[in-house]
Amino acid sequence: MPKTAHDKTQLVLENYIGGKFVPCSRHIDSYAPSTGEVYCMVPDSEGAEVEAAVQAAKAAFPVWSSKSPQERSKVLNKIADLIDAHLEELAQAESKDQGKTISQAETLEIPRSSYNFRFFASSILHHVTECSDMDHMGCLHYTLRTPVGVAGLISPWNLPLYLLTWKIAPAIAMGNTVVAKPSEMTSVSAWMMCKLLDEAGVPPGVVNIVFGTGPKAGQALVSHPDVPLISFTGSTMTAQHITKCSAPYCKKLSLELGGKNPAIIFDDANLEECIPTTVRSSFSNQGEICLCTSRIFVQKGVYSEFLQRFVEAAQKWKVGVPSDPTAQIGALISKEHLEKVQGYVKLAKADGGKVLCGYGVDSIQVPDKNKNGYFMLPTVITEVTDSSRCMQEEIFGPVTCILPFDSEEEVIQRANNVKYGLAATVWSSNVGRVHRVAKKLQAGLIWTNCWLIRDLNLPFGGMKCSGVGREGAKDSFEFFTEVKTITIKH
Ligand code: NAD
Repeated sequence: MPKTAHDKTQLVLENYIGGKFVPCSRHIDSYAPSTGEVYCMVPDSEGAEVEAAVQAAKAAFPVWSSKSPQERSKVLNKIADLIDAHLEELAQAESKDQGKTISQAETLEIPRSSYNFRFFASSILHHVTECSDMDHMGCLHYTLRTPVGVAGLISPWNLPLYLLTWKIAPAIAMGNTVVAKPSEMTSVSAWMMCKLLDEAGVPPGVVNIVFGTGPKAGQALVSHPDVPLISFTGSTMTAQHITKCSAPYCKKLSLELGGKNPAIIFDDANLEECIPTTVRSSFSNQGEICLCTSRIFVQKGVYSEFLQRFVEAAQKWKVGVPSDPTAQIGALISKEHLEKVQGYVKLAKADGGKVLCGYGVDSIQVPDKNKNGYFMLPTVITEVTDSSRCMQEEIFGPVTCILPFDSEEEVIQRANNVKYGLAATVWSSNVGRVHRVAKKLQAGLIWTNCWLIRDLNLPFGGMKCSGVGREGAKDSFEFFTEVKTITIKH
């Protein structure tokens, strides 16, 4: 519930507008997922705060957009240096705020956040535009790319700083100014980063961060007439709403959404590598990664062996408090989300599914102060039908379903039989088959004999209800700029 007063012992965040921290008179509670306690007050921003941020971004645009790529690159590299210098405190804050394990925050999330700035600091120096000589008409055509203006950036709670910086870095590298809104559930690392922006030499107004809920702050941002571009990562349902709100202004939209990602395991797969990788792809970050595997199709010849070994491996994954360096799974983001994820397991059981491991909390050993945390064991389900809700809808938690299949044609059809199309993995030692299957799968990202190895130069994004547009060196460059074709007749 929105609050106007707050307990002085709690962390109180402020918006960052025009290079200054600006207090907000209204706040919302933010919970630590591992204790279930409120520990932070997040501004409950509305139209007025978003308006101030948009005005600050508009005022900063002419100067920032006219700087050279080299000057902007220097600033981005400085932000990266400062994130690296504060890695430990940012990782601890992220782990406390989101519930992820400290090792996940230290080794993946925060290093990738600084790398996002470093990557686009370099990438912006290497883009060239096109030129076409039409000599028979006496014409030369060439293209110019210019920044779009004020970019509206909206990010989710699962990889808070990682996904926010994946938007801020390309947007400002290309010369745009931004108004960003992180998830109201995980705002702390973004607020901490604001303190580093000034030190890095980011001019006031180039990056503005407004904290608050989707229906208030997010809605005001996507409906603002002076924000011509929205980059959104989050759920498909919110994206559908944002699309409607943006339609009257014909905004540029990049939508990175949910998934229901299949893993396809053929008889000739190398199970030594496939099993630990598929356990990791199912349960990393509590299964709260859009790319996590949640439907595993195993060819009949290795089905029984796979099932037994997969369950044994899943049972070894340690659920623990986020600060425990040996824990592999921390706490889920919220009580509501935990109930939703557990609800899918109940639904699967009601549909005739068999729960082979996980689900309850009985065997999770946590200190007394964490007894109300949102913990859940890695859960493996089998014997459900492809049409059951746990095989069709995004669960976004530590739950995965395993089912057998016979033939290549059959599994391609079943893997594609969902509304999503984000990612897939294929395991086989037959390169011809891997190539054939990858070509026919409806997914924007397909890993064969591995998972989550990324080259940021290449496109990232989904098809069908998993998204619109792609992100990456060239794709982000194109999205965060407008292109003009100019023709000169000589
Ligand atoms: P969500 O859609 O509920 O919220 C995402 C963001 O949108 C939050 O900042 C929220 O405050 C904001 N928002 C909500 N309503 C809004 C509105 N009416 N107008 C403007 N903004 C609004 O998603 P979530 O629960 O935070 O995140 C989980 C989802 O994100 C999952 O579906 C997951 O798959 C997806 N995700 C996708 C990717 C990807 O790259 N494809 C990456 C991470 C997460």
